[in-house]
Amino acid sequence: MSKVAVIGGGYVGLTTAACLADLGNHVTVVDIDKDKIAQLKRQQVPFYEPGLRELVERNSNAGRLHFTTSYMDAVPGAEYAIIAVSTPEGESGEADLSYVEAAATSIADHMDGPLVVVNKSTVPPLTGDMVSRVLKKRNSHHAATVVSNPEFLREGSAIHDFMHPDRIVVGSHDPEAARKVAELYAPLEAPVLITPNIYTAEMVKYASNAFLATRISFINEIAMISERVGADAKLVAEGMGLDKRIGPAYLDTGIGYGGSCLPKDVAALAALAERFDYHPGMLHAVMDINRDQRMLAIDKLRECLETLQERVIGLLGLAFKPNTDDLREAPSLDIAKVLLAAGAQVRAFDPAAMERTRVLLPDVEYMADAYDLAAGADAIVIVTEWNEFRHLDMSRVKQLMRRPVIVDGRNIYDPSTMKGLGFTYRGIGRE
Ligand code: NAD
Repeated sequence: MSKVAVIGGGYVGLTTAACLADLGNHVTVVDIDKDKIAQLKRQQVPFYEPGLRELVERNSNAGRLHFTTSYMDAVPGAEYAIIAVSTPEGESGEADLSYVEAAATSIADHMDGPLVVVNKSTVPPLTGDMVSRVLKKRNSHHAATVVSNPEFLREGSAIHDFMHPDRIVVGSHDPEAARKVAELYAPLEAPVLITPNIYTAEMVKYASNAFLATRISFINEIAMISERVGADAKLVAEGMGLDKRIGPAYLDTGIGYGGSCLPKDVAALAALAERFDYHPGMLHAVMDINRDQRMLAIDKLRECLETLQERVIGLLGLAFKPNTDDLREAPSLDIAKVLLAAGAQVRAFDPAAMERTRVLLPDVEYMADAYDLAAGADAIVIVTEWNEFRHLDMSRVKQLMRRPVIVDGRNIYDPSTMKGLGFTYRGIGRE
């Protein structure tokens, strides 16, 4: 079993650390966020991720999982240092690599022997070389080898995704180091792709996320055409997805993708292409369609309500997707801001994300549940497709509302059932 330092205790770092500890490794998480580490030491997980608290508790109690704010407690003696810090969007779309650089600097300052530095943060090709340069420059006494090992887990099913990955991708200029990283995952019995240079592994992650975003923008473009010709885009997507060459995933029509990954990764790949004098026309189209798609909910509300001024509008769902409280690039934030600016009274309910949203949107009224949200509302917008919203008593919702207008931004309801109940119902790409 190996001694592992995980740098960054966010969604990816904490999941990685807890899962690797569960596989029997001795893992220490180092994070610069003192509050986060204090919570983790109390076995509290600072964000919502199903099953993670139990995994942290089990492995902390077994003495395999530790938390610290000091690199000194994590890096000396470790065989692997896994970088899982944030790589947010920079000012002109490029990936901001300052956290990765800072992590590499701190690793270099504390390593006391040969070390495999694993980059799990999503970074553009050539970043591994930058990390290598930092390590060499700061610490000439000990050799560190950099391996790219992108992460593909999804928030909301992070533990399952980590433990049952479709594939493990590792790439390094040093094949021995890449194989050593692959060994960490041997108990998972997943297909392993070892790429003979680091750039290819780094690129697999960006290409995968850009492709997933492309599928969503593609189906949303089909939805816009379907809406105009009287086709039902949800069924069109279903019909396409049954084709084995296409498959059903990421063909959900709606108000577009959000979250901490797809928006920034598509932007970063486009920025990288521009840096190398290539105009990424398709990536720009993907981003443009997604931006327009968010505002569709507003257009549909205007159409149904004539004006937004003083209308009471309920947002059902705030997180960027179900089973998380993550609000990064969530469509709900843009939609709420536009509605507030137009003079609407905005209220919201989300099973997990209200506490975080309160800080970002203090002018929104936060409700106890979906029925509380419906009482006296002029319209409801389905923003996040939480499962519990699929099973609401819609007759009761209709009775509670002042006007029975539903804009279903995620196409979770059946249009004819909703119309049968007396709602003015607008889906995306279907009537
Ligand atoms: P996050 O913001 O939840 O966590 C990052 C953590 O790193 C924070 O706790 C922060 O305090 C810490 N940190 C920042 N600088 C540090 C430093 N110098 N030393 C120690 N800790 C530091 O981010 P995340 O969602 O876990 O994403 C991490 C990376 O993984 C990103 O590159 C992201 O693109 C990628 N990724 C994310 C997901 C996802 O679903 N969230 C999936 C795959 C890949």
